[in-house]
Amino acid sequence: MENFLKNKKVALIDMDGVIYDSMKYHVRAWQQIVDELNIPFNAEEIYIYEGMVGTEIIDKIFRKATGKEITKERAQELYDRKSQLFREIGHNDPMPGTAEMLKALERAGLRRILVTGSAQKTLLNSINSDFPGAFNPGDRITAHDVTHGKPDPEPYLKGLALAGVRAEEAVVIENAPLGVRAAKGAGAFTIAVTTGPVPKELFEKEGADLIFPSMPEFAAVLDSISGHD
Ligand code: CA
Repeated sequence: MENFLKNKKVALIDMDGVIYDSMKYHVRAWQQIVDELNIPFNAEEIYIYEGMVGTEIIDKIFRKATGKEITKERAQELYDRKSQLFREIGHNDPMPGTAEMLKALERAGLRRILVTGSAQKTLLNSINSDFPGAFNPGDRITAHDVTHGKPDPEPYLKGLALAGVRAEEAVVIENAPLGVRAAKGAGAFTIAVTTGPVPKELFEKEGADLIFPSMPEFAAVLDSISGHD
């Protein structure tokens, strides 16, 4: 494979489903919410909405299941409850292969910047101890820094601005179709790693530049193209 990291200075890296194997806990929390509401919904569908602002996801689910709109206040209330459930049932399981992926990026000379739509303190506070040295303090864009969630390009545009690089100098690492759309909208070379059940075709449709079937396979390719296999 050609060296797609050539001339790249920065890697903008998503969190849920990339750094942490956390999507299974989000799915469980969402399933509990819809079960309590007694609306028909298969929580696996969350993988399609991943990256969107939580209240927008509530709105989508509700509209699809009932044909009705939900008030902003009620959506916020349900999202707060979902976040609470996530904190209760979630664990910060590092994604297998991610530590190796981050080290390979470091060896290739790329600065790593976290770009997530999440505001979950439980995960954000654990990154520096779970992946020591992987990110410099302050090298992160979170839900607190943006007004638009993915698929809007804003989170990735802010990541580029924080790094002070042009889009052509950055790669994005994503696991969600809407995350890929946001990254492509920002003009970055976008790598999708399918760490969940979303079919490859959805990433192709969003214009992902490269698609890898798992994090360990992606990490191994990074190592070989940067001459450390
Ligand atoms: Ca993600």
